[in-house]
Amino acid sequence: MIPPVASRFVAGETPAEALDHARELNDRNVRAILNLLGEHYDDRGPADEDAEAYLRLVDDIGDTAVDACISVKPSQIGLDAGTEVFRENVERIADYAADAGVFVWIDMEDHTTTDATLDAYEELARRHEGGVGVCVQSNLRRTDDDLERLAEVPGKVRLVKGAYDPPAEIAYEEKSVVDDAYRRHLEYMFEHFDGGIAVGSHDPEMIDRAKALHEEYGTDFEIQMLMGVREDAQYDLAEEYEVWQYVPYGDKWLSYFYRRVMERKENLTFALRAVLGR
Ligand code: FAD
Repeated sequence: MIPPVASRFVAGETPAEALDHARELNDRNVRAILNLLGEHYDDRGPADEDAEAYLRLVDDIGDTAVDACISVKPSQIGLDAGTEVFRENVERIADYAADAGVFVWIDMEDHTTTDATLDAYEELARRHEGGVGVCVQSNLRRTDDDLERLAEVPGKVRLVKGAYDPPAEIAYEEKSVVDDAYRRHLEYMFEHFDGGIAVGSHDPEMIDRAKALHEEYGTDFEIQMLMGVREDAQYDLAEEYEVWQYVPYGDKWLSYFYRRVMERKENLTFALRAVLGR
């Protein structure tokens, strides 16, 4: 069982708990992006198992009629075991989800995976005429070029600042420079994309900028934030905008919780306060 201190960020260990959380979000006009926790499997066995779990989750979403989609990590469904394993599994999931009308996001992991992830995304987004989305990271210097390529693809793109630490030759390191890149990428997307923009950030400045760009260009967008982070803002924004919450679940919650705490120490204080009721 997940201790109360971590349950602020993780919906539970089972799909049923994740779906219950999604239903509560839906009641507040927020939609759910369900992510089964797991990554970096060297062997095909666990990668195939998680791919199967996503197929069952797609069925559960259909059966329970919650407003939810799924988000998968390439290394969770086989990228570390070989590009062909990842391709087989991501295609299986995307084809199955397309038949069920469930949207599939592909998370972006460290810089060594960017090409394999974008190639798989492009093929699947074209095959399903949308129905698939991919994440890109503003801290990578290549992202200006990647966005030009993605503007022509009929899927969705989630723009994030980047959660990994790539080497300096290929990435911006200073936070202010990453923020500048994020502003530039947002502007490019609103100007050149035909909708399908997901603003994956908790940063109030970037959200305000996206709202202003939407006014200027009229391009559709959605806002995505993580479970347990600025949830009141998520509910407020959902009164006017399309808001999705990224909802992790599963028994591998400890390392995810640890990451949330390391990236922002206040997260532990918030979580402890919630547990202590203060
Ligand atoms: P930051 O730049 O960290 O902070 C800017 C401001 O936002 C802060 O000053 C504060 O005002 C506010 N803020 C930020 N965090 C908090 C908090 N905990 N509590 C209160 N206010 C806060 N990264 C990847 O590399 N690959 C992915 O696939 C990926 N998927 C993501 C999906 C979603 C839905 C989201 C929201 C993020 C994802 N990320 C992913 C993580 C992302 O790259 C960033 O590491 C993370 O979102 C932190 O950047 P930020 O823009 O939210 O805000």
